[in-house]
Amino acid sequence: MMPSARKLNAVIKGAGGDLSLIDILGRFMPAERRAQILARTEIIRAHAEGQLQEFENWKVLQVNVKAEWITAGDNRVCPQCADLEGSIFTIEVARGMIPLHAQCRCAWIPFNVDA
Ligand SMILES: [Zn+2]
Repeated sequence: MMPSARKLNAVIKGAGGDLSLIDILGRFMPAERRAQILARTEIIRAHAEGQLQEFENWKVLQVNVKAEWITAGDNRVCPQCADLEGSIFTIEVARGMIPLHAQCRCAWIPFNVDA
């Protein structure tokens, strides 16, 4: 387990009780697994928002880019994310779009609007 998931697991399993659950398919999901999913998803969110902020910062250098959606590109990409692959958004619109769902592995790449 990654360190951030271990810390989250400690919180989830804390004094308030175990936050394990049964998912919509009837599968038991231990608190540790929930913590892992939460940590992975939030790291993707932080990474995506950091990318967008960097694209925004480039405006100071007269580098104007939009944000292009990329997926992990493998056979585990969900249909919703696959549909968005290659879509281009203004940075303002792009904010908050990734992750699209829990365990989303998508990211932004810069799309040069001046090219
Ligand atoms: Zn995705």
